[in-house]
Amino acid sequence: MRNLLIAIMGLLMTFLMSTVVNAQGIPVMAKPSLLLQLHIQHIFIGSSLILSLMCFTWARASRSYNMGILALFFAIKSLGILVAGDISLFALFTNNIHLLNTEGVLLANLSNMLFFIFTIKLFSLKNHESKSYQLLLRLAIIMTISVPLSFVLSHSHTWLLTQIPISISLLALLYVSRTVKKSDGRLPKIYSYILLVQLSFNVIAYLLYFGSFSAQIINYLDMLAFWFMTIMATYLMGHTYYCHLRDEKLAQQQALDSAISSNRAQQKLSALQDESQEQLESRVQERTLELKIALQELETVNQELKEKNTLDELSGLYNRRYYDQKILAEFRRSRRNLTPLSLILVDIDHFKRVNDNYGHLTGDKCIVEVASLLKSLLRRSTDVGCRYGGEEFCLILPETDENGALALAQEICQSVRQQKISNNESVIELTVSCGVTTYQQEKEVTPEIIFENVDKALYKAKQAGRDQVQVSKFKLL
Ligand code: GH3
Ligand code: MG
Ligand code: MG
Repeated sequence: MRNLLIAIMGLLMTFLMSTVVNAQGIPVMAKPSLLLQLHIQHIFIGSSLILSLMCFTWARASRSYNMGILALFFAIKSLGILVAGDISLFALFTNNIHLLNTEGVLLANLSNMLFFIFTIKLFSLKNHESKSYQLLLRLAIIMTISVPLSFVLSHSHTWLLTQIPISISLLALLYVSRTVKKSDGRLPKIYSYILLVQLSFNVIAYLLYFGSFSAQIINYLDMLAFWFMTIMATYLMGHTYYCHLRDEKLAQQQALDSAISSNRAQQKLSALQDESQEQLESRVQERTLELKIALQELETVNQELKEKNTLDELSGLYNRRYYDQKILAEFRRSRRNLTPLSLILVDIDHFKRVNDNYGHLTGDKCIVEVASLLKSLLRRSTDVGCRYGGEEFCLILPETDENGALALAQEICQSVRQQKISNNESVIELTVSCGVTTYQQEKEVTPEIIFENVDKALYKAKQAGRDQVQVSKFKLL
């Protein structure tokens, strides 16, 4: 829509301009051929301006600097053709014949140079093809120098002065298009076709010039060549723009693809990490379980070892080592809690005789029987029965006063007396003597002293005739 508006404006401007030019420069004759020529010129100016403006709009929209150069080239080139067709722009400002002569040469050379710039940009000659770039640069300098020549040359030679640089430029550009290395091979090809078509038109123009055809015919030919050129050059730019968009899209697609594939790889990696994490966790759990089991087994073994260390193998009661530890602990507890602590020392009477009469194995059996009886008589969980040595047993009774210990000792004596131990066909009857003592926070008393005291009591029982209980009290200091 915007382009259409610009085109319409261009058309209006063209008619306005041509009217001004007609009013100022060229006398309008009422001849039909001249009218036709003017109409063709009007159409040419209008369409060239539309073309240029559209190219400028396109250049702005696509942000293509080179498209802008091409648009400028179209504008200058079309003005050059108009000037060659006897429309003078300079006539608006001056009547000087020499300056009027310069106009065509100036526009032709300017358009050539613009096309050079366009070519340099199109093939990036400055960076990649320095030889071709230098060639075009030199040609541009020569063309600039040749402009003043038009001052001295006659008007009939001016046409040649505009055409020869154009032909040289076309040949040079054709050479450049052949040498240029471009990834897209179509671009230089289309470009060279443009030049070849222009060259053909150029050759025809020379033939017409030297064949003394009218300048008007040659001018129409120029216009035709120009239109061929604009169509092809616009197609060329369209193709370049299409390639640019395609490459951009391709690059975007490639970037997207690589982003997707990197994302996939990342997902795969994180899945692998998760998997290995799970594996690690399950292995850790397994190992922890194994360790737990091993620890439990170790604890059981430790417990067994502890029991083995503390228990007497024959009787199943605690051993002497355990007694030593336990009496110390209970003594301290008793002192701390101010509770009584009693001991009963039990000794089987005349045990030597048992051994002598029935043998050591039977003696052992008797020890076991007495021990199990003692165990059954110790009802409190805090009471501890130990095999102190041979056939001697020491019972630790925490929080038990003398009366309690005495009662228990007497019960022991009575139970053993009533116990019948069968041995083959005979029955063995035993008696025990018991010593009792109770510690009740007496001063300067140690576990050793307590034992000495209970031993004294046992001795007393033995002395008194055995099978009885004797108590030994602590001497009060
Ligand atoms: P008393 O009434 O004075 O205690 O007389 P006794 O014969 O028991 O004398 P004493 O206690 O001094 O001797 C203990 C004996 O017990 C000595 C030993 O032959 C016997 N004996 C000690 N340990 C064991 C044992 O583990 N097995 C057996 N079979 N006999 C033992
Ligand atoms: Mg003894
Ligand atoms: Mg004895």
